[in-house]
This record gives sequence, C-alpha cells and structure tokens, in this order.
Amino acid sequence: MHGIDEGKWLAFLDGEGCEEVERHLRTCEECSETLQQLRACQAALRLEASRLRDAAGTSEARIEQMLDACLDELAGRAWTPQQATLLLRSLLEPFCGAGAAQTLTELTMRRSTSTNQAFDSAGWRAFVGNLSQDVESICGSAAGRLVGRAGLSLAVENA
Ligand SMILES: [Zn+2]
Repeated sequence: MHGIDEGKWLAFLDGEGCEEVERHLRTCEECSETLQQLRACQAALRLEASRLRDAAGTSEARIEQMLDACLDELAGRAWTPQQATLLLRSLLEPFCGAGAAQTLTELTMRRSTSTNQAFDSAGWRAFVGNLSQDVESICGSAAGRLVGRAGLSLAVENA
C-alpha cells in the first residue's frame, strides 16, 4: 500500500516498530485513517470475543447479538484480505491466546490457498469456512461459529 511492502505493513500492524511505515503515517491521512479504523475494530472484536468467552450461554442468538454490537464498525469499509485476517485473529485471541491465533490463521491460510495470489471472494469464503472448522476443533464451537459469522460479514476486497 502506497509503495510500502505488504509484509512491512503486516509486521507493523502486528506490533513491530517500522520506521518506514511510521514516517509514511505521519504524512498520509488515508493510511492513518485506515490504521485507526483497523485498531478500533480489533479492540471491539477482542472485547466482544472475551464477553462471549465469559458468557454462560453461547446460543446462536447470543452470538448474533454479540456480533451486531461490532458489525457497525466492520461494515463501514472494505478490507484487504490481510487486514480482514488480522481482524479475525483479534476475535480468536481471547479464546486461544495471541500466539495460537496467529499460528491457526496462518496454517488455515496456507491450506486454503493453492497459490500465493490474493483472495477472490470465493477464496475468502472458503478460507473463512476452513478457519471456522479449525477454530471449532481447537477452541470450541462458540468461537468457531463466531469467526465464521464475522468472516462472512467482513467486506473483503482484493489487495
Ligand atoms: Zn498512505
């Protein structure tokens, strides 16, 4: 994005310092805004996921209710597949921890894409389906369903 390598953006979004990205953010309003929205969504998703984790009942209705609370923020814009994946990871973190969430999404991503090309929308849906299953078997069915629903609610565009 804007001449900065996607890998550098991802590392930065993951919390690694990067002078090139930081310098760009100081002068580019568009990227700063995207970053702020992404951070806000990550925080909202983490919060909703931890509420769900701590909730006694995890019925379908309850999951819908939790998701509605953060869908407004998610629906506001389209995300690149990388950004969307990062958002789904935020949702997983309260259930299985940051490290496992990262490993799980990376493994599923590798399994879901035969080439290294960007996702089209069918590819994204396939990834979300696989991730939902993988999450369900590791973190339980509530987390799996939550990730599946959230993944399909995200507007994903090709990077
Ligand atoms: Zn920019």
